[in-house]
Amino acid sequence: MLTYDEALARILAQVTPLPAAETRLEHALGLVLSETIVSPIDLPPFANSSMDGFAVRAAEVQSPSTTLPIAGDIPAGALSIPALRPGTTLRIMTGAPMPEGADAVIPVEETQVQPGGSVTFLTAAALGDCVRPAGEDVIAGSVVLTAGTRLRPAAIGLCAAVGRSTVRVSPRPRVAIISTGDELVPPGQALKQGQIYNSNLYSLAAQVEEAGGIVTHRLLAFDTPESLREVFDQCAGADLLLTSGGVSVGDFDYVKAVFAERGTVDFWRVAIRPGKPLAFGHWGDTVFFGLPGNPVSSLVTFELFVRPALRRLLGHSDTSRPLISAHLSEEAHHNPGRQSFLRAVAVQNAGEYTVRPLPRQGSGMLGAAAEANALLIVPADLSVLLAGTTADVLLLD
Ligand code: AMP
Ligand code: MG
Repeated sequence: MLTYDEALARILAQVTPLPAAETRLEHALGLVLSETIVSPIDLPPFANSSMDGFAVRAAEVQSPSTTLPIAGDIPAGALSIPALRPGTTLRIMTGAPMPEGADAVIPVEETQVQPGGSVTFLTAAALGDCVRPAGEDVIAGSVVLTAGTRLRPAAIGLCAAVGRSTVRVSPRPRVAIISTGDELVPPGQALKQGQIYNSNLYSLAAQVEEAGGIVTHRLLAFDTPESLREVFDQCAGADLLLTSGGVSVGDFDYVKAVFAERGTVDFWRVAIRPGKPLAFGHWGDTVFFGLPGNPVSSLVTFELFVRPALRRLLGHSDTSRPLISAHLSEEAHHNPGRQSFLRAVAVQNAGEYTVRPLPRQGSGMLGAAAEANALLIVPADLSVLLAGTTADVLLLD
């Protein structure tokens, strides 16, 4: 059986970023650039005032209380800019182009406008005061963002500032989710004898969206090969296909067999707890994961394997959650044999993490899992982790 590290390495070796597509900037937040962006223009494109005030020749405003006649106004966006005639000043707004002849701006707060259309300066001017020169931020022809950058809000703004309305990025993976089980009904309906609500469909879809994917199909298959075939075929062409349930060795676990009629299974078990039955494979260009049905197993295996694959499809170079070292605040007990990922609460205090394993670690116990913000990793050969010792922890948020 593969270990967690082996299984993850095998998955990442077989998943590559989706081909880049030209994407409208307003849809690119969080996506990864597959091109390097070079600015065709200077930023700012022209010298302009950084304050509302008066454009002057600094040499003419050397002693406080210099008074000059106001020869006109320059609003931001003005199409024609008068030149500054010697012995005059022009009222100028923030962001307006500097008039020819001016080399400084005196902020309005440092002035007193006189009746009759002149202004007295309460301070002397120095060359370049309150002027933003062309290209002081970005010079035309320079690289502003490199390929591989994740587009955060400031980067989106920068693309717009250099005039880009589209960018080349790996698109959001289109993800199809199939839940399986005759016992499942959608929430909102009354439960009959033996039925439970289909929670995995909701938790998996939420995990996909949180990781940056788009859920295109939310389906339910019954525990028959015919139903599974029909539902699988609706998902042909997805970038990523997830199933939940029906993947272990029960009498009605047909997922692997029906998938194998269409694609190839690379492996189907991993030496971890929860989540031993986990299938991974390919169906044409579709990446396939058969996740276990127990709600916590489904959640945890998504975190450990599917999320990294999804982030790889998106072009991220860091695919995993942060792995930190934390002190246990309580003892954690463990059945040796498989590496375990216990649901836990991690807290940071003065740069150090402590971690507390939660009670109710059953693979069906969603209540405890919903409290967790971390997975505490227990090595396969240990039966106890003592309070005060350190352990590896994956942070989930
Ligand atoms: P299975 O892997 O199909 O044998 O399912 C294992 C356990 O998980 C069973 O108790 C199922 O009822 C439960 N289960 C399977 N799928 C879901 C689901 N979509 N939502 C909630 N529980 C599920
Ligand atoms: Mg089942």
